Amino acid sequence: MDLFVSLTEIADHASAAIGVTDLEPFPDEADRIRDRVSKGLHGGLSFTYAQPDIASSPARSFPWGSSIVAVAVPYLTDGDGTSRTRTVARFADGDRYEGLRTVLADIESVLGDAGHRAEIVFDDNRLIDRAVAVRAGVAWSGKSTMAITPGAGPWILIGSVVTDAVLDQTEPMSRSCGTCDACMPACPTNAIIAPGVLDARRCISAVLQRRGAIDHELRTAIGGRIYGCDDCLTACPPGQPALRKVSPAGRALSAQEVLTFSDRELAPSVEHWYVPSRRLRFVRRNALIALGNTGDQSSLGLLAGYVGHSDPLLAGHAGWAVGRIGGPRATAICRAALNRKLPRSVRDELVAAVAASALGGVYADVPAVLQKADAEENAT
Ligand code: SF4
Ligand code: SF4
Repeated sequence: MDLFVSLTEIADHASAAIGVTDLEPFPDEADRIRDRVSKGLHGGLSFTYAQPDIASSPARSFPWGSSIVAVAVPYLTDGDGTSRTRTVARFADGDRYEGLRTVLADIESVLGDAGHRAEIVFDDNRLIDRAVAVRAGVAWSGKSTMAITPGAGPWILIGSVVTDAVLDQTEPMSRSCGTCDACMPACPTNAIIAPGVLDARRCISAVLQRRGAIDHELRTAIGGRIYGCDDCLTACPPGQPALRKVSPAGRALSAQEVLTFSDRELAPSVEHWYVPSRRLRFVRRNALIALGNTGDQSSLGLLAGYVGHSDPLLAGHAGWAVGRIGGPRATAICRAALNRKLPRSVRDELVAAVAASALGGVYADVPAVLQKADAEENAT
């Protein structure tokens, strides 16, 4: 049987799209990455941004290769339906890469059995997955910057197998987003600044994966999210049929769970997430913001405990969350904490929280609030 026909059968079995391209460079991608980096739009993310010349020239990493087999594997499952109030993005709710890994392993195995060298590549800074998928015709590049396929829309994971087998190439898709731009106004932080251009500094998915304190101006927009953001995907019309096919009754990890679980209890739930240096403090930081955004007075007891945390990152974000919930009890928690000796960053968060609490949980002009507090402190 023709080798590509065998590979297509594997893809069909997983309802995946499959295509083939060569290892010629992607010069436009290298220019695009350099442009984003020069404008700071990559937001400090590395991945393919780290080495654009290598990522856009597959032959440099795979000099032995002749073809790249690209696949796009749908990942929605029951519980992933139309709800817009998820704490965890669908792709990260459980190990969604299993389907992709299986398809890629089966392709690698068929190629190997036929006597060919083959190497699985995905989420790897040696190859730009989306560029490969687009040139191989398994997806088009959406204005949201996601790869989109007919049928599954953006609800796909993409990956490749580089091989020395000489396979016929498939054509790029003629389909595109056309006049649709639904993802752009759907983004809660306006991170899609032009069609196909993402400002990763403002993208909630990227922000929740970063180290350090999260910018005040983004915290409210993060809403109840702890990891990932699906808003530009749920808005995408080509993905609607797939979304409606699955039940909406999913239940992801809650902020309360993240903040009450021990490290040992929490680690397995987040083992497939990108967490800087695997430090759970960053997951808890996200959960503190999510809990603050619930506005739920009954969360104040849990948050008050975190206000006294020895980690300034967590104490500061807990202070913010208390101020976001607001009200007399929230103000009392922050004022009591301010009576202690605190790191500057925590003190500033609590000062801002007292002001926000008085405004019913609205953070307005934080720099001016801090300036006034500093002036008052210096005057005493
Ligand atoms: S993932 Fe969320 S924040 Fe990022 S571009 Fe999409 S809608 Fe905007
Ligand atoms: S929402 Fe519309 S414009 Fe955005 S990626 Fe989907 S099809 Fe393209």
